[in-house]
Amino acid sequence: MSHLKSPAGERQPAALGGAATTALRIGIGHDTHRLADGGPLILGGILVPHDRHAVGHSDADVLLHAVTDALLGAAALGDIGDLFPDTDPANRGRDSGQMLQVACRRIVEAGFRIVNVDCIVFAQRPKLTPYKLAIRQRIAELLDLTPERVGLKAKTGEGLGAVGTEAALMAQCVALLETVV
Ligand code: MG
Repeated sequence: MSHLKSPAGERQPAALGGAATTALRIGIGHDTHRLADGGPLILGGILVPHDRHAVGHSDADVLLHAVTDALLGAAALGDIGDLFPDTDPANRGRDSGQMLQVACRRIVEAGFRIVNVDCIVFAQRPKLTPYKLAIRQRIAELLDLTPERVGLKAKTGEGLGAVGTEAALMAQCVALLETVV
C-alpha cells in the first residue's frame, strides 16, 4: 500500500512479529492454592512436613502447576486446565508430576527442548530452605534436565495478604525452550 511506504532512503521497520523460526521461546506460569489444616504439603513433587496442606482438584502441587503452565505457554500449547480439566473426575487427586510429564511429551512432539526453568514459591510457612535441593532435583528428574537448569527461590508474604496469613500458597515459573533443528 503506497501510503505506508517510507520516504526514499529511510530504513523500513522490521515486522513486529519477527521470524516464526526464532530458536528460543519463553513462557510464564503462575498458580495459587488455598491452604487447609492438616499436612503434609505436596510441593515441587516432594512431601514437605507441615501442619497445613494445599487444597485442589488434583494433588494441588502449586509449584508443579506453575512449571507446567510456563512450559506449555512457551510452546503456545494452552494451559494445564486444557490438558486436565477439573470437571473431569479422572483428574481428581491426580499426581501433578504425571501431568507435567504429559505436558513435556506434548512439548517434545511440537519440536521443542527445555533450556531451563526458574521458579519462585511464595509461602509464609514452612521454611523451605531445607527442601529446596530435593525439590530442584525432583523437578529436574521430571523434566529430564540436570538440577543446574532448575532455579528455585522461596519467599514469604511478610505477613501480608493471602500468602502472609497462610490462607494460600503461590508459585511462579519462567521457562525457556529451544526449537529442535
Ligand atoms: Mg493449580
